[in-house]
Amino acid sequence: MSDGAAPDPQDALRERLAMVEDRIARQRALVEGIVDSVRGENVDDEHDPEGATLAWERQQAAALLAEAESEREVLRAALDRVVAGTYGVCEVCGRAIPAARLAARPAATRCVEHAR
Ligand SMILES: [Zn+2]
Repeated sequence: MSDGAAPDPQDALRERLAMVEDRIARQRALVEGIVDSVRGENVDDEHDPEGATLAWERQQAAALLAEAESEREVLRAALDRVVAGTYGVCEVCGRAIPAARLAARPAATRCVEHAR
C-alpha cells in the first residue's frame, strides 16, 4: 500500500535519533562534570549550601539524561517497527496512524484517539 510519494519514516526517525544521541552525550558529560566537581570539593550536602545546589543540579542533569535515553529507546523501537512492517499502525485499534500525526511524532505507537 505504498504510493511512493510518502517520505521514508526511517529518515525522520534516524534524524531524531541522531539529535537524541547528541543530547545524551552532552547530558552525560554534564552529569560526570558535576560528579567530579562534587568529589573535588569534598562537599557536605547538609551544611554547605553550594553542595546542596550541586546535588540538585546533578539530579536535574541525571533526570534529563534518563529522559533522553528513554526517548532513544522509543525511537529505536519505532525503527524496529519499520523493519517489521508494523510501523504507523495503532497498537490499540490496529488502524493506520494519520500521516500528520506521524510527521509530528514519528515514534507514535497509537492513533490520536488512543494516544492517552
Ligand atoms: Zn487507535
